[in-house]
Amino acid sequence: MSDLHIELTAPNGRKYTQPTGLFINNEWVKSSDGRKITSINPTDESEITSVYAAGASDIDLAVASARNAFNDPSWRDLSPTDRGNMIIVLSDLVAKHAATLATIETWDNGKSYIDSLGDVAEVQGVLKYYGGYADKIHGQVIDTGPNKLAYTIKEPVGVCGQIIPWNFPLAMASWKLGPALACGNTVVIKAAEQTPLSILYLAQLVKEAGFPPGVVNIVNGYGREAGAAIATHPGIDKVAFTGSTATGKEIMKMAAANMKNITLETGGKSPLLVFEDADVEQAVKWAHIGIMSNQGQICTATSRILVQDSIYDSFIAAFKKHVQKVSVVGDPFAETTFQGPQVTKSQYDSVLAYIQAGKDEGATLVSGGEVFTNGPTPSKGFFITPAIFTDVKPNMKIYREEVFGPFVVIATFTSEEEALKMANDTIYGLGSAVFTKDITRAHRVARRIEAGMVWINSSNDSDYRVPFGGVKQSGIGRELGEAGMAGYTQTKAVHVNIGLMI
Ligand code: NAD
Repeated sequence: MSDLHIELTAPNGRKYTQPTGLFINNEWVKSSDGRKITSINPTDESEITSVYAAGASDIDLAVASARNAFNDPSWRDLSPTDRGNMIIVLSDLVAKHAATLATIETWDNGKSYIDSLGDVAEVQGVLKYYGGYADKIHGQVIDTGPNKLAYTIKEPVGVCGQIIPWNFPLAMASWKLGPALACGNTVVIKAAEQTPLSILYLAQLVKEAGFPPGVVNIVNGYGREAGAAIATHPGIDKVAFTGSTATGKEIMKMAAANMKNITLETGGKSPLLVFEDADVEQAVKWAHIGIMSNQGQICTATSRILVQDSIYDSFIAAFKKHVQKVSVVGDPFAETTFQGPQVTKSQYDSVLAYIQAGKDEGATLVSGGEVFTNGPTPSKGFFITPAIFTDVKPNMKIYREEVFGPFVVIATFTSEEEALKMANDTIYGLGSAVFTKDITRAHRVARRIEAGMVWINSSNDSDYRVPFGGVKQSGIGRELGEAGMAGYTQTKAVHVNIGLMI
C-alpha cells in the first residue's frame, strides 16, 4: 500500500482505509510538489493523518480531466435517466458506508456522531433527490406564430469549480455535486483544509458508482492556492462557493476574469423573533437548536434572539435552564453528547475572543462561555460551554458580527415594527425565525423580513426539497430544491423557420 491509502483506526474503534491523494480522472495521485495538509482531531488535538494538497498545477490537471469528460460521449451523450441512475447508485453506496463516513466526519470535524449520521442521511437524500430530477429537466416550446418554431434546451454550464467549507463537509459536497451532475456538468470540487478526510472516502464511492473518469474530480488544498486557482481558472465555467462573506467577495472578483457563472452561500447573523403571544416552551427548544447545533457552526444559525419585552425575563430564565440541561458538551463519539469541540484552534480562539468582546462591551454573560476542560483528554480539545449574552445592544460587535460558535445574543423589542427594524438591521439576510401563535402576524412578518429563508415556529428546519440561500451579503443564487438546478443549467434558444421568405 502506497501512502495514497492508509489504514486508520478511529477513536470509536472503527478501522478503515483512508485515501490521501487527489482524486483526478478516477485515479489517486500525489500533488505535483508533494505538499500535504495535516488533519487534526479537535477533540484531543492529535494528528489524524496527512493528505495531499493541490497546487495550481494540480488544479490544471483536474480541470483538463473535467473538460475531457465533459466532451466525452460516455458522459455527454449519456441519457439523463442513466445519468440520474448513476447518482442514485452513489446515494445507495453512501447509505451502505454510512457508519464509516460518519466516523470520519466526527473524528475530523468534532461534531457529534449522531449529527454525522444525520449528515450522511442527508447526503443520501440529496443525491437521490437530484438523481431523480436528472430526466425531468426540460426546455420549453414557445409559440411565436405559424411560420416559426422556437424552443429552448436546458444545457449544462460546463466544468464547475466547487469550493466548500468545513462545517458540513459531506453535506456541502452533496449539495453541490447532486445538482451539478444531474444537469450533466463535470466537476472539480475542493474541500476545506480544516476537514479534508471524509470527501476522499466519498471519492472512492464516486468511482464505484460508475461515473466515467474526469466527471467528478475531488481535491484538497488551501484556499489561497487551490481555491484561488479554481476561482480564476479560465477552463472553469462556473464557480459555486460556500464559506465566509469576505472570501465570497474575493471569489466574485476572481471569477470575473472569464465571467464565470457564480453561486455563493455566505455568512449570516440570523434573527429569531419571539412575540409575547408565542408558545414560549417551543420557542425555547427551537432557539436552542437554532444556535447551539453543530457547535454553533451553522451559517443559518439564529444567533440573534429578539424577545418582546413583556416576556423577556421569563424567556431568558427558561432558555438558560434548557441550554444548560440539553447542551451536554463532551466526547463527540459519546451518545449523550450534544456539543463537541470547535473545529479548529483558530475557530476556538475566535469564539473566545468574541466572549471577551461581549464582556468588554458591557453585555451580560448569563451562562457558559467558558473553556471546557473535561473532554475525553483533559485539558485538550477545543471545547467551549454554550454562551448566552443578554442586555445586548444593536451597536455591539457581538450583535452585528457572525461568531460561528455556541454563542447567542438576546435583545429585546417592544413592538412588531421595532422587531422588524432590528431583524433587518444587518448586512446579512440568510435565515430568520418567527415565534407567534397569531397566523396573520406570522405571515406579515415573514413577508417583511429581509432573508432568503423564514421559519415560522421553528428554526433551521432545512429540507433538501426546499430552496436554500440568502439575500444581501449572505449570497447569490439558491441551492437545494428545484431552484438549486438553476445555477447548473443554461438556456439555449433555438429558432426554426418553418415558413417561406416572401
Ligand atoms: P472560508 O471562506 O475561509 O473558507 C471556505 C472555503 O473557501 C474553503 O474551502 C477555503 O479553502 C476556501 N477559500 C478560502 N480562501 C479562499 C480564497 N482566497 N480563494 C478561494 N477559496 C478560498 O470560510 P470558513 O472560515 O472556512 O467557513 C466559515 C464561514 O463560512 C462562516 O462565515 C459561515 O457563515 C460560512 N458558511 C456559509 C454557509 C452558507 O451556506 N451560507 C455554509 C457554511 C459556512
